[in-house]
Amino acid sequence: MLKIGITGGIGSGKTTICKVFETLGVPVFYADTVAKQIMTTDSILIQGIKDTFGKPSYFEDGALNNKHIANIVFNDQSALNKLNALVHPAVFRAFDEWDAKLPKHLPYSLKEAALLFESGSYEMCDKNILVTSPHALKIARVTQRDKVSEEQVLARMSKQFTDKQKLKLADYMIENNENNSIILQVLDLHQQFIEMTK
Ligand code: ATP
Repeated sequence: MLKIGITGGIGSGKTTICKVFETLGVPVFYADTVAKQIMTTDSILIQGIKDTFGKPSYFEDGALNNKHIANIVFNDQSALNKLNALVHPAVFRAFDEWDAKLPKHLPYSLKEAALLFESGSYEMCDKNILVTSPHALKIARVTQRDKVSEEQVLARMSKQFTDKQKLKLADYMIENNENNSIILQVLDLHQQFIEMTK
């Protein structure tokens, strides 16, 4: 079974596109959602976080103290790198467990991750898709979806590779703009991935 990575800048529409793949029966691993879940379930990760950021990283009931972690990593790149170095391998482990349980007859699965290229996770996928969208459209979509300001969206964008950097590493591109049909682009790739496994 092929492993296909899919990513895109904030608000590019990668989750929306994954939902289209799901309607075709393609299993999708949402790495960012799983990353949040395993912060309170993966014992190796929990211990690593406590050792690195202190006991107050967790409340007594086991819930993550988001505020404590955010305060430390917010303006400290080296602390953020340390957090990523703990979380990324844990997400890889979770992906491998998830992938191993999939029915073997399926041609491919998708791994959706905002930082697919930045984390190096794309290297573990057979092929990688980049979802692109015009800058102004991404800002409009995210400000509306998350009820945040344009400045907040720009701040989040500044932490990600640019599309130009990502395009060098991607095998395929889906253009999520107002001129191209995302359904037709998804169907085309779906067919290509099936052909590859024949
Ligand atoms: P993030 O990285 O912030 O999680 P994302 O890349 O996963 O974002 P989505 O959540 O899929 O992006 O899309 C952002 C917003 O834009 C959502 O509210 C979604 O419904 C909307 N959207 C995305 N693509 C389209 C489209 N082709 N037509 C209409 N709305 C869209």
